[in-house]
Amino acid sequence: MTDLVRTSCACLIHREKRTGDPEVDDVVRQVLSRCWTIVGNEPQAWFCTVGQWHNFTSPEFVICGLPRREGRDALRGAVIAMEYDLPKLGEVDTELTSLRIKTVRVHESWSGSPLLRTARAFYCGRLPEYRQLIWAEAAEGFPGDEGFDEELVERQPNLAIPRPDHPECAWTALP
Ligand SMILES: [Zn+2]
Repeated sequence: MTDLVRTSCACLIHREKRTGDPEVDDVVRQVLSRCWTIVGNEPQAWFCTVGQWHNFTSPEFVICGLPRREGRDALRGAVIAMEYDLPKLGEVDTELTSLRIKTVRVHESWSGSPLLRTARAFYCGRLPEYRQLIWAEAAEGFPGDEGFDEELVERQPNLAIPRPDHPECAWTALP
């Protein structure tokens, strides 16, 4: 890793700072001890990686709408797949987990969302690239596919859509 790459990470570790926020400082400890970690909110059903950019200059991942175990399994699968430049942006992957997953780039307008609050704090307000793993409903396919059940739409957002343009839902209204 070059110095140029190193200086491009704005995180608390590179800046040798702490926030005093126990949750964020705990993430710092986890990244220091095992390179990357997963933060999330179980009731709200979202999880994201922190530390991939800091340690490997790899994109970070986020997944929404799945229970803890499935969500974290999918993130781990994506991190392992990054070694092979997978999952490809915009493509559907069936190998990552038992789910079909489509990977999209999170639009920067979501950087203010509570979804990325801890990550934002870790990266001192300068979020690296985040990619969302959008999962397919077994028989229904992906949100937005023809014939997709409208009642399932709110189970996960599409973070590739700029936040102001995203249909209002639980995800745009996260406290
Ligand atoms: Zn860093």
